[in-house]
Amino acid sequence: MPEGNEIHRWAERHAAAFAGKAVRVDGPQGRFTDSDMLDGRKLLRVMAVGKHLGYDFGRDRILHVHLGLQGDFKEGTGPLPPVRGALRLRMWNAARVKLPAVDGTSPRHRWYSEDDGKATLPAEKVAWVELRGPMDCTVYTNAQWEKLLERLGPDPLNGDKPDRAFAKIAKSKKPVAALLMEQDVFAGVGNIYRAELLFRARQNPFTPGREVAPAVLKQMWKEMRPLMQAGMVDRRIVTTLPKDRPHPRGPVLSEETHYVYRRHGQPCRICGRDIKKMENFAGRNLYWCPHCQADTTENV
Ligand SMILES: [Zn+2]
Repeated sequence: MPEGNEIHRWAERHAAAFAGKAVRVDGPQGRFTDSDMLDGRKLLRVMAVGKHLGYDFGRDRILHVHLGLQGDFKEGTGPLPPVRGALRLRMWNAARVKLPAVDGTSPRHRWYSEDDGKATLPAEKVAWVELRGPMDCTVYTNAQWEKLLERLGPDPLNGDKPDRAFAKIAKSKKPVAALLMEQDVFAGVGNIYRAELLFRARQNPFTPGREVAPAVLKQMWKEMRPLMQAGMVDRRIVTTLPKDRPHPRGPVLSEETHYVYRRHGQPCRICGRDIKKMENFAGRNLYWCPHCQADTTENV
């Protein structure tokens, strides 16, 4: 599932490509029937909070997109491509789709750790975007958007203050690894950042929220923004420090991007012991090093 870094990246790119102009919108396969409410209107801005996108068309009309597990955008230049696959929505600039396609592509991603973003098209050249497989793509009123914001926790990429999240964690008996996945605690953190933030803080994932040291919460919050911002550049999430990589200099190889995420059975970069995996912990697989992230609160 795309994490906050990618959602904010789409918001920036789509704002650069379309905001301030009239935008054409359709749902060519009848899967988005509200396109008439937006088609031909000026897109005022594109907002991102947590894993939610809001395309503000004014007049109480905000296109809400949540990509979920399967959703993704495809972007391109030149004429609109033929309608293919499970296409939910298209958005395009009427003048730009009359121009010939230019060099550069914006391919669909593979695993985030493998995508180095080098083939990315400059946002201002984008003529159209296609949306496939989202969990939600509906037109919200301003009140509905506000209601969504109310139930989301602070988003590190929006310059929010962490206090509400810290207070929730400090009161909770739930394991900290479960709390990190809850969007009303921190908005935008997903499975990769959860595993990697906990490792970088050497925090045991199973410690109840209320037993996590405040200094650890502060450290994780402090690291969220820069790590997620770095992941906005090219969709690639790199959480390792240069000194902990086999090749500390030069480009980060795909196998060097993470400490624990999807590294189960491989040696920990710090202690050399096996990284563990637990299936479906708060909805997604959890990865951690039982030695570096030992439970120091009790002997289990
Ligand atoms: Zn270790």
